[in-house]
Amino acid sequence: MSELQNAGWIFDSGYNPTKSSFVKVNAIIKEVATGEVVVLETSCLWDVEEQRPNDFSWEGGNESCDCNRRHYFLAAKGLPRDDEVDCSEGKYLVNLQNPVTGQIFYRETEDA
Ligand SMILES: [Zn+2]
Repeated sequence: MSELQNAGWIFDSGYNPTKSSFVKVNAIIKEVATGEVVVLETSCLWDVEEQRPNDFSWEGGNESCDCNRRHYFLAAKGLPRDDEVDCSEGKYLVNLQNPVTGQIFYRETEDA
């Protein structure tokens, strides 16, 4: 898969901001109970209208749930999946960052 960096973002499939595509983002995930912070390299769908990554799934979709966030937290540490986790909210807080510029474009916590 080719990577082209443009407009301050890395697009997975070549730069075309008028087309639906994925851009690379860093998910900075804080485990509230321990204060431990990890960084997961992942991607978000590009929002053509807003000209920024779509953060809906982190705000209110699948990736807002602690069960998935725990999976990502463990994956970022190279640890196997924990399937015993219940669904909840608030055990993991996430900031989303542009890996090129360092800009936080979605923020849930000030201290990560
Ligand atoms: Zn869940």
